[in-house]
Amino acid sequence: MANTNIEHLKCLIIGSGPAGYTAAIYAARADLKPVVYTGIVPGGQLTQTTEVDNFPGYPQGITGPVLMEDLKTQAERFGTEVRFGYATKVEFAKDGGVHKVEIDGTTWVSAETVIIATGATAKWLGLPSEEKYNGFGVSACAVCDGFFFKGQDVAIVGAGDTAAEEATYLAKLCRKVYMLVRRDEFRASKAMVHRVMNTSNIEVLYNTEAQEIVGDESGVTGVRVVNNQTQETQHLNVTGFFVAIGHKPNTELFEGVLDMDETGYLITKPDSTATNIPGVFASGDVQDHVYRQAITAAGTGCMAALEAERYLTEKENPVEG
Ligand code: NDP
Repeated sequence: MANTNIEHLKCLIIGSGPAGYTAAIYAARADLKPVVYTGIVPGGQLTQTTEVDNFPGYPQGITGPVLMEDLKTQAERFGTEVRFGYATKVEFAKDGGVHKVEIDGTTWVSAETVIIATGATAKWLGLPSEEKYNGFGVSACAVCDGFFFKGQDVAIVGAGDTAAEEATYLAKLCRKVYMLVRRDEFRASKAMVHRVMNTSNIEVLYNTEAQEIVGDESGVTGVRVVNNQTQETQHLNVTGFFVAIGHKPNTELFEGVLDMDETGYLITKPDSTATNIPGVFASGDVQDHVYRQAITAAGTGCMAALEAERYLTEKENPVEG
């Protein structure tokens, strides 16, 4: 990498979900003049959800996209610069020197501190037919694509909070929603399961897995499912097939550079957002496989900015002895 004339920042934030924007609010107020690179999905995962009822401060609930726009506006109010772009390469200085990050495969920026808030991405089942019909009836985002299946019958795979939330969302638009649950019970919270059970046009099929998505040139026309206890198969006439089986942390960029666990979640020091590289911090879903909530992501974003500020202060004014 050529070292000439690259932009130098005090604080670079990669990612624009609740973690990234909260880090930006705190870093900007501490005069670190943060720059946020949004990533491919500005606003992160919450822009693909509907109602958020559990973010404190919104007694009537708020939609994910509006919440994210509010966080962005708040970050900008204190001088954060938000840029569309995504990090393609990193060169982190192991000794706590200046870190370098390549943006969009073209431009390098350097930074004293880097806050990683790259979040997580939806998982897929891995069926060839799922890939074949992706975008033609297969989707991992009910909120983005549910509208296209208004009045139709659809299926959704998964039994966690996301699947439960998306199934109830789809039930408002679609005629019928089949929910494919691979075990004989949900993973989702009691409240979410209760909501599913109280929605008359959701039919839960337990011990059931998708074997193949069937379609033609018009897109998905059905799905063959199997009961994994009886091995009985059945064909569901659906035109939409939604996958809601969890997420994978977006950490490929940091492989071999930052410490991560076997699933790819970044490992941070206990009670801290510090990674194994001085001056590089990680916040939000990229380092949290336990809570994965907008509010906990925001909390760790705040921690990362406070730690970045402290790191810079100590670097600029080292304590003698
Ligand atoms: P989870 O990991 O919680 O759940 C994934 C679900 O997908 C599980 O039921 C799992 O089944 C199922 N699954 C995984 N792989 C397959 C497969 N190959 N075939 C069939 N089913 C499969 O992910 P979520 O995205 O649901 O939730 C992530 C986190 O976000 C959670 O902590 C959740 O509480 C939180 N969340 C909170 C919300 C809220 O509070 N409003 C909304 C959405 C998410 P199994 O149970 O058998 O392992």
